[in-house]
Amino acid sequence: MLRLLGIILLLNTTINAHAHPDPHSFANSDAVRITEMTLNLEVNFKKQQLQGSNTFRYQIITPDSQEIILDTRDLNIKKVTYQSDQNSGKLKWELRTKQDNLGQALVIQLPEHIADITVHYHTQPQASGLQWLDAEQTAGKKHPFLFSQSQAIHARSWLPLQDTPSVRTPYQAIIKAPENLRVVMSAQNQAERSTDGVYQFKMPQPIPSYLIAIAVGDLEYKKISEHVALYSEANYLDKAAYEFALTEQMIKEAEALYGPYRWGDYDLLVLPPSFPFGGMENPRLSFITPTIIAGDRSLDSLIAHELAHSWSGNLVTNASWRDLWLNEGFTSYFEARITEAVHGTDRMKMEAALNLQSLKAEMADMEPHLQALVVTENIKDPDDVFSSVAYDKGRFFLEWLETKVGRLTFDQFLNQYFDHFAFQSISTEQFLSYLDQHLIKPSNGKIKMSAVKDWIYEPGLPADLPVPTTRKFKVIDAQLKGLILNHQNLSKIKTTDWTTQEWLHFLKALPANLSQDQMTSLDQVFKFTEAQNAEIAHVWLLMAINNDYQPAFGKLIHYLQNIGRMKLIVPLYETMAESEKHLSLGEKIYKAARSGYHNLARFKIDPLFPSLSEQQEQ
Ligand SMILES: [Zn+2]
Repeated sequence: MLRLLGIILLLNTTINAHAHPDPHSFANSDAVRITEMTLNLEVNFKKQQLQGSNTFRYQIITPDSQEIILDTRDLNIKKVTYQSDQNSGKLKWELRTKQDNLGQALVIQLPEHIADITVHYHTQPQASGLQWLDAEQTAGKKHPFLFSQSQAIHARSWLPLQDTPSVRTPYQAIIKAPENLRVVMSAQNQAERSTDGVYQFKMPQPIPSYLIAIAVGDLEYKKISEHVALYSEANYLDKAAYEFALTEQMIKEAEALYGPYRWGDYDLLVLPPSFPFGGMENPRLSFITPTIIAGDRSLDSLIAHELAHSWSGNLVTNASWRDLWLNEGFTSYFEARITEAVHGTDRMKMEAALNLQSLKAEMADMEPHLQALVVTENIKDPDDVFSSVAYDKGRFFLEWLETKVGRLTFDQFLNQYFDHFAFQSISTEQFLSYLDQHLIKPSNGKIKMSAVKDWIYEPGLPADLPVPTTRKFKVIDAQLKGLILNHQNLSKIKTTDWTTQEWLHFLKALPANLSQDQMTSLDQVFKFTEAQNAEIAHVWLLMAINNDYQPAFGKLIHYLQNIGRMKLIVPLYETMAESEKHLSLGEKIYKAARSGYHNLARFKIDPLFPSLSEQQEQ
């Protein structure tokens, strides 16, 4: 059962005395802390601007504090006012010098007595946390679209606030948009479209700033089960309803594992294909890429992942980005458990094996300090902490703990852990002391703290890593062993029941260097260039670039012009940029596709093609 709100309304921000200071925020949240926010914003597509105000309440932690410091980036601050029962007026404020990735500190002089403070401001078109799409960049092609991506530190580009995960606040919002469009947020959403373009929202539980989210577009609504509804452009609605039909079951399985879902309903927003991520776990309303709509529910582990964040992350999150693994590692473990419960052990193991393969490949090119679960060296841009290490090494660490004490004990531990730290933001060291007390000590020597610390603070993967094996991949390996890759032999491989995961394993198990004849045979027999499944197409297109298989290049161009998900497109550009032969092809495609990509994707791809940015600067 899903429990509805109620108890949670009593909760407020939690003060975290043990957390490390967050190097990626200017906020003086240890002295004065925002406790509640009300946003009042108007959406202007013509100017690509959000205009309005953020009114907040605060709590003074250090007596005699004179000022509150907020994070901003590229915001135009107009004025700061205050209002209380007795008084109202203007407040002194200043924007401090801009710092590279962090933006500018907004320092506000506090009024004499506690009052509501309102910052009046508007955003700029280059706001890193907002993507403004023209009508042509949407699936429906008729109306513009706006969506936010606040994680890691992009909320400050569209809201003046204390932009650190260590601060949690409830929020409310009144948003005015063009009348024919719908607004949704990471909050309680209304099923009915408003007639005047004004929408009201309420997120009663305290959430960190990176989970504040908004989207505006020609969005349809469809309830697909008791607790799950979809928002999407009309053309994805039915396909998504089929693809994500198991979400209700996933919620039930997740609750059976780790306790009640504490956020009310769970809805999914399907975004236009330029969305830079697979998904974003905005509470109550996960943002989802359409690239997982495969027609056979074979990529819906991503839904399991975003749903799992309702516990690992949204309920218990990292206090600063050095501890991201507490969020993504736990979520990847939990995702696997939900996938296993809904789709069976084979599917879970196949995904685990593919993830381990990618993790090892990624770590092979990685500096040692980035291979530790906790990144202890200074990280300039917290977006750089988002690697397979936080996700998959974190997940395998938890699986390792599970194998040491058994599933029953480990599940009991996790259940208590989520409950104990509910609605808090914690550090790895807080986790370690809890782990020591509640799992390591009671295990009577089955788990050694020194081994745990190796996982967390050392590079590489421990020798006793639990390696996932699956019969399904062994069958494929056996068929490929010693096989001469020609049309006749390939036609004999039994692929009738293969799932996406088996196709991916098959493609990755092929030799890296293939002749034109071999690529042609593969394509003729399995029609890879025509693949509609975005993941399979991705691996095939990588092979096509590496082996200069030009018949697939038309598809490559189409793919890169229509998808913006970084995981799928960045490796393709990297591969082209690395090869002398395909550098100019990469530049040509990127030049045409760049305007459709999210800022975050551009940040990653721009440096691959320096000559293009020189042209733009001229
Ligand atoms: Zn995640």
